[in-house]
Amino acid sequence: MNKFFVALSFLGLIGCGPSMRSSNSTAVSTGPTNPKIDKASISFRIGVPLWSSQKRFEEVLNLFDKYKGVTDEISFFTSATHPPIPIDVFRERAGILKARMAEARKHGYKAGINILSTIGHHNENLDNSLKGDYINMTNIDGQICKGSFCPNDDRVREYVRIIYELTAKANPDYIWVDDDVRFGHMPIGLGCFCDNCLSVFQKELGVKYTRESLKSAFNDGETEQKLKVRAEWLQHNRNTISRLFTLIEQTVHKISPDMQIGFMTGDRFYEGYDFDNWAKILAGPKHTPVMWRPGGGYYNDNTTSELVGKSHDVGRQVSVLPQDVVSIQSEIENFPYQRLKKAANSVALEACSHIAAGCTGAAFNVLSFYDEPLDEYEPLMAKLSESRPFFDLMASTLGRSPISGIHTFWNKDSYITGKIEEGNWLSAGNPVVNHDLYSIGLPASYSGNASKVTILGKDNVLALPKFVIKILLEGGVYMDAQALNQLNKMGFGELTGFEPAGSDNVDRIEKFTNDPLNGIYSGRQRDNRQSFWKSEAWTLRRTDEKARFLSSLVDYSCKDVSECTSGVFENKLGGRICVSGYYPWTFMENQSKGSQMKSVFRWLSRETLPAYISSFHKVNLWVREPQNGRIALAFTNSSFDAAQNVTLMLRTENRTIKVYDMRCRESVIQSSGTDGSYQKFVIPVVDPWQMRLVMCE
Ligand SMILES: [Zn+2]
Repeated sequence: MNKFFVALSFLGLIGCGPSMRSSNSTAVSTGPTNPKIDKASISFRIGVPLWSSQKRFEEVLNLFDKYKGVTDEISFFTSATHPPIPIDVFRERAGILKARMAEARKHGYKAGINILSTIGHHNENLDNSLKGDYINMTNIDGQICKGSFCPNDDRVREYVRIIYELTAKANPDYIWVDDDVRFGHMPIGLGCFCDNCLSVFQKELGVKYTRESLKSAFNDGETEQKLKVRAEWLQHNRNTISRLFTLIEQTVHKISPDMQIGFMTGDRFYEGYDFDNWAKILAGPKHTPVMWRPGGGYYNDNTTSELVGKSHDVGRQVSVLPQDVVSIQSEIENFPYQRLKKAANSVALEACSHIAAGCTGAAFNVLSFYDEPLDEYEPLMAKLSESRPFFDLMASTLGRSPISGIHTFWNKDSYITGKIEEGNWLSAGNPVVNHDLYSIGLPASYSGNASKVTILGKDNVLALPKFVIKILLEGGVYMDAQALNQLNKMGFGELTGFEPAGSDNVDRIEKFTNDPLNGIYSGRQRDNRQSFWKSEAWTLRRTDEKARFLSSLVDYSCKDVSECTSGVFENKLGGRICVSGYYPWTFMENQSKGSQMKSVFRWLSRETLPAYISSFHKVNLWVREPQNGRIALAFTNSSFDAAQNVTLMLRTENRTIKVYDMRCRESVIQSSGTDGSYQKFVIPVVDPWQMRLVMCE
């Protein structure tokens, strides 16, 4: 393994397992790197109340038939509440589902079973759920979740074996494992620290821990030692899920060797994000195609930024999957399914946005969870039916090609860096820096593999060995003052060009210098009111005379108080660095700051950003690596205002693009000039909350 390859694996970039044979109806595998996809992979998930009675189920089928083409697959939930159900109840439901799935096939749909609870989600309906001598999911303080069980308990594993056997014998076209297979269950938080799991960990490492001593090892002592035991625990979590999936795969494929198994995920940092290996296990020895359902929380459209936030979560999940996982249906979930909670337009755009971020389709969990007529859902069905041709066009155009742009750093070990200095590691939350940079027209990417610039925040780098950090610093890096401090402490000061030299927490305003990267915005100010939105304003000192100042700090009397709060530096390895000490992640939405950031990222990338929106619009953008010489991308006008004259800068010599709206209407746009290696295309108008698909001619 060469140095670069090893570095990629540490960055969390290598997905892969052996090439898998594909028998999916929507895709033909043409090799591990370029599966051809001819349409979107769309399913609807339906709840128990909609299939329990024959009469209601007929109504559901009639609704799908009325909007023929709205779905390819119908996935049947095994329960309406979230803990595992008793085996006799499961057996009875599997029998009914066998008949329901046969009926669905007569109407032209693939039909599968979605096992809502393998180990269970949380406490709910406990009186009617699985009871018995099973070990409950247990947190580090010894508290248990009665609605969720330990996947390392032999009796739980026997329960799992039986329900998957019953499922496979019901003859579904596919089986979905739901997202209860994780660690993080209400009300206890992260598990599983039962005595049995601690003894498994002891066998893996040869070190004996109690819950108390393990908690102390996670949170107390030297940083290196804490990182080590945290990384070992993440590997233990990966192993636990791997063992559970081995059991599921062997149980299912013993009965039905070609059965497709799918897994629904979220942003699974604490579980070790081992999606590529878990996909390989679920494929089994025959390399049966695996399906994936990346998910996240966006249950209503009250907060508009949550839509694209979920797309970024989904994009990260897809980026780990082997190229030959081709059916990737984003979770579209409107729980508890009250129609006015999320507009039909939002649901349609959400599916498009997640396809842009890497999915090849969508799984709609949007219909009622009552035994009731579905009249109120008809406008939603009509909208999704109308949108289906655009889903297909997006999936077939973008396929599984990698997303190229600016990578907000993460890897499979990122979780180990949370709360490293103080606090409880197990409450650290998502380790990825959240920022506004993707919403001003800069292109997102989720894997360092296809990235042109890396964004580093605070302790991210602790998940990496030093030689990989050095490789990162040979490229383009944008970071905050805390990350700068961390890198300098680790001995990389010569490559960063700056050092932090104190901070102020009140009354500081950023003022742009006359550096060429600021262009016509030299002298402009950015005041983010530290009295409202708390954030340190850092002073940076240059440690190399070639470092350049991008902005200084002034106070409310306009007095200069700091010569530099952000700057750029080109190091001796050719790496380009930008350190931002004043609100590095938020408040990017005025014209001067947005323009500065676009100039900076273009510079950091050495003119290799594949595309960006240079006009002043709130736009989210996903660009794919060229396939057969053709660039394709998609962007959303993420604003309630129509966007006039959206200017797309595209790194190509091609002078013509085709632009498709969400009704698949095509317009052809000619370049209106060049700027360096970029062609400039002006798209006259994009309506509010609409996506456009762009292809190079
Ligand atoms: Zn356990």
